[in-house]
Amino acid sequence: TSPLSADLIEAEEAHLTHNYHPLPVVVASGEGAWVTDVSGRRYLDCLAAYSAVNFGHGHPALVAAAREQLDRITLTSRAFHNDRLGPFAEALARLARKDMVLPMNTGAEAVESAVKVARAWGYRVKGVPADRATIIVMDGNFHGRTTTIISFSTDEQARADFGPFTPGFVVVPYGDAAALDLAIDENTVAVLLEPIQGEAGIVVPPPGYLEAVREITSRHGVLMIADEIQSGLGRTGSTFACDRSGVVPDLYLLGKALGGGIVPVSAVVGNADVLGVLRPGEHGSTFGGNPLAAAVGLAVVELLESGAMQERASILGDRLMGGLRSLLGRGVTEVRGMGLWAGVDIDPSLATGREVCELLMERGVLVKDTHGSTIRFAPPIVVEPEDLDFAVEQLEAVLEEL
Ligand code: PLP
Repeated sequence: TSPLSADLIEAEEAHLTHNYHPLPVVVASGEGAWVTDVSGRRYLDCLAAYSAVNFGHGHPALVAAAREQLDRITLTSRAFHNDRLGPFAEALARLARKDMVLPMNTGAEAVESAVKVARAWGYRVKGVPADRATIIVMDGNFHGRTTTIISFSTDEQARADFGPFTPGFVVVPYGDAAALDLAIDENTVAVLLEPIQGEAGIVVPPPGYLEAVREITSRHGVLMIADEIQSGLGRTGSTFACDRSGVVPDLYLLGKALGGGIVPVSAVVGNADVLGVLRPGEHGSTFGGNPLAAAVGLAVVELLESGAMQERASILGDRLMGGLRSLLGRGVTEVRGMGLWAGVDIDPSLATGREVCELLMERGVLVKDTHGSTIRFAPPIVVEPEDLDFAVEQLEAVLEEL
């Protein structure tokens, strides 16, 4: 760590709440899949801001859309219309093959919005008695950090000392369709799940599971809500992770990469039979759907329209997985993933995930551990094939040194 980095880290330590434990690298700039620290040292970014930077740092088309909009207008609030929001919503709905969009800012807000929409749909359309609606969620879920969302988290660290919690949620095991079928009753309004659990360690459900969830929810007249905030928008080699199973949920929750890594943009996307339940004054956001967000979001959708990004993630993902799997039995105990998204379990007798991340950082690769011994690899999709080989080589070298 250079003296300048140390000073900047010290300033953060002194004046920021300690709710994160960052790696000791101070990033100053970035281009594509690479970032540069304050001393001029380059690192391959294999986290991509938890998939918010799917299209790379400073993607020219996205930066151009933001720049152009900065000079026109950035915020109107939804008290008025703005000339970017309609085109964005139309394009996003088309990409998702749905007809309606509810624009918000962060991922957690999209989840909160979907919880409200599902409940309102339950009372107004399904006919659930007042205040009795329940939503089924999955063991090991991660949907954000607000009080209602942590109310249905199964991660004690996310909940401890933050109660009392919001009622109305039922937890079932992830990947177990029979358990889900049994848990549904007449007051169930929705099933909320990640098609692949990201924060849990890139947990891919068993084959046929998402199809079964779709069948079960349809049969019971319950909404299927897919949180694609981390898995969506190209990461898994298709527009949505649900596409890989041929499944169409009632609501998609999108965020992260929807803002191109430039501004926070999230959305709930669905059809009017569900999203149409919201009436003026019942829900909103000062910044949701602002012209800058809409301009960037539209440029993101345009990037995804040709399918080239998705295909690139799929092809590069095979290369990354192949490299990582070659380390099985050599310090790596399991590799999971889909597309350009991999969870790598490190043999806990050798090192913690954190230790491996620190050693990789020293070798010019930035990754993040999750749940003790898992490391996730999710580089920007614009990464070069040789960069992926570099990342795997560095992991191999780190494991050999342990
Ligand atoms: N849902 C999923 C699947 C996520 O991975 C995340 C963030 O990691 C969120 C929701 C919350 O998004 P945000 O941090 O923008 O609130």
